[in-house]
Amino acid sequence: MSETPVSVRKLVTAIPGPKSQALHAHRLTQVSAGVGAALPVYIDHAHGAIVTDVDGNQFIDMGSGIGVVTIGHTNDQVVKAVQEQVAKLTHTLFTVTPYEPYVRVCELLNKHTPGHFAKKSALFNSGAEAVENAVKFARKFTRKTEIVVFDHGYHGRTNLTMAMNFKAMPYNAGFGPLAGSVHHVPMSYPYRDPEGLTGQEAANRAITYIEKRVGAEDLAAIVIEPIQGEGGFIVPAPGFLLGLQNWARANNVLIVADEVQAGIARTGRWFASYYEPGFEPDLVTIAKGIAGGMPISAVTGRADVMDSSHAGGIGGTYGGNPVAAAAAIAVLEQLEDGTVFARALEIESFMLPRLLELQQRHPVIGDVRGRGAMLAIELVVPGTKNPNSAAVNKVVQYCHQNGVLVLNAGTHGNVIRFLPPLAITDEQLTDALNVLDEALANAN
Ligand SMILES: *Cc1c(COP(=O)(O)O)cnc(C)c1O
Repeated sequence: MSETPVSVRKLVTAIPGPKSQALHAHRLTQVSAGVGAALPVYIDHAHGAIVTDVDGNQFIDMGSGIGVVTIGHTNDQVVKAVQEQVAKLTHTLFTVTPYEPYVRVCELLNKHTPGHFAKKSALFNSGAEAVENAVKFARKFTRKTEIVVFDHGYHGRTNLTMAMNFKAMPYNAGFGPLAGSVHHVPMSYPYRDPEGLTGQEAANRAITYIEKRVGAEDLAAIVIEPIQGEGGFIVPAPGFLLGLQNWARANNVLIVADEVQAGIARTGRWFASYYEPGFEPDLVTIAKGIAGGMPISAVTGRADVMDSSHAGGIGGTYGGNPVAAAAAIAVLEQLEDGTVFARALEIESFMLPRLLELQQRHPVIGDVRGRGAMLAIELVVPGTKNPNSAAVNKVVQYCHQNGVLVLNAGTHGNVIRFLPPLAITDEQLTDALNVLDEALANAN
């Protein structure tokens, strides 16, 4: 078992340490080279916002395994729920002989997703699988085929979702033929759009593409991340999502909000969609933050859309697995009292002024953006808006060498994103931001 968790950054070896290096050398002989490793330190255990590697180094986690352990590593209630459930029932297959935790997860999601309409849910294993199934529901309901997605977007690594990604490298290159009937249109990207372009104007720009290149007649759904994740935490201009929704409703087109990264308290609300008043996507896809690291995902949305498939058309062997469902219930029930949302907003109030202050001192920071505990800095060549991925690589490497786990993002690899577990303390945040400051000073 792990030793008593300690809450500070602590380095006891060079990074990666000797045990990690030995494990990594062995891994290279056994694991597919297609599976990357951003930082080959091998993690032994974790709690809250601290992860400890096999050499005893303690890192401050500013990435949550890409927004998954939002509730905190080894959250007490999640651990307890998993332990109890694993000893009781691990599998039947819900579509053969059902069990209650699946229904409870659906009930909680139906209650807390946006939209003043009757809702239903279905559970799956991964974000990509949720997105694929949202597309299935949309096609079945509308009896149309085409799908619109956005520049800089990311939706997964299955065949359909690869086609929905913006970035060919590393996600799609060489893995074709990709699925057809998927069309990319321009995103609202306030930092890079023409100065003063409103959300409605950005929506009109996208709608022009949609009308000219696809046509509403064949379009089943517009799939959009309300804040783009892999794309670099791009927050669309106010009015953009609503502009798309107004057009979609007038044209019998569904809106799917891909909340896989932005959902479940990450931005300080249940879902990032809530930040756009009146935005009520027909379907929402949910995964990463929902179960403290256990694999489970969902599509939640309009009951008439979710009921459009014949029985047996939707499912999968492990979808809504009882142990993962128990973990999801433990996360969702903790969110219901509101303190986790409050913490995400506190993290924003704590970090945002500090990031803006860093921008004053480090002209390599072109933009600071995000919501809640989903914040990012976009690095540029000082004095220009030219993407500066070289600086990002230096900063990320410096942070890693100094015990802070950060992630890059962005079409040009020039964004550093911060999505810490919400269990992170102010002391840990201060420490991590001090390391970031040093890293930026070293990046020029
Ligand atoms: C991560 C992600 C996915 C894919 O989820 P997986 O669980 O990796 O399949 C889909 N959409 C968004 C917005 C994501 O961030």
